[in-house]
Amino acid sequence: MKEKLYEGKAKIIYSYDDKHYIQYFKDDATAFDATKKGTIVNKGIVNNKVSSLLFALIEHEGIPTHFVKLLSEREMLVKKVEIIPLEVTMRNIAAGGISKSLGIKEGTPLDIPVLEFHYKNDSLHDPLINNYHIFALHLASGEEVKIITEYSFRINKILQDFFKKAGITLVDFKLEFGRNEGKIILADEISPDTCRLWDINTGEKLDKDRFRRDLGKIEDAYQEVLKRLNDLESRSN
Ligand code: UDP
Repeated sequence: MKEKLYEGKAKIIYSYDDKHYIQYFKDDATAFDATKKGTIVNKGIVNNKVSSLLFALIEHEGIPTHFVKLLSEREMLVKKVEIIPLEVTMRNIAAGGISKSLGIKEGTPLDIPVLEFHYKNDSLHDPLINNYHIFALHLASGEEVKIITEYSFRINKILQDFFKKAGITLVDFKLEFGRNEGKIILADEISPDTCRLWDINTGEKLDKDRFRRDLGKIEDAYQEVLKRLNDLESRSN
């Protein structure tokens, strides 16, 4: 019998065996510290498939992830991890938080990718922190931060190149890492919920900003991302 271990805003974690969990993807959508709530029909199916495809790609490039295999439309088998309470944001183009806090016009390319650490804590609104905060709060060790940083920049390059082939600009995204058998591995999800994805030609937003900003055609945008990545995958096989 699988037992519900944790229910988050977009996913549920179920027990599986000694070494694995099942990650179940919901259609629930939240934004602005969960003050805005809604449903994006079939989002869970898209995010499960998109995440598994991207995790497989990243694993293939030599970065360990929690992904084991797809179990069903909404379920992914993952390795058990102890999540490190850091949200790692990588930005290639200014949007969202950085545009607001530093006054950089949305759409301005950043001369180098910008990595940010946020403390994963809803009640504190995921504040921006640096390495000193991480060590003072004992969130991760120096060696772990070094590995997380190196992986994040490499993942950015892998994803940028991949999305480009699908006609998509990777504006920014968020990663979470965990500890598994003493090693740092990539966890959580990578999907239109956790990335900003713009059509390379038109600049049309193909991500959760359509929900955050009430832009309409939310389901269509998620399906479009899945379709483009599926097409790309079948072309490369
Ligand atoms: N992001 C996320 N979860 C969060 C906060 C941000 O997945 O709790 C993603 C978001 O979708 C975007 C990137 O991280 O792709 C940077 O988000 P930002 O810091 O600009 O915050 P936001 O504008 O989402 O408040």
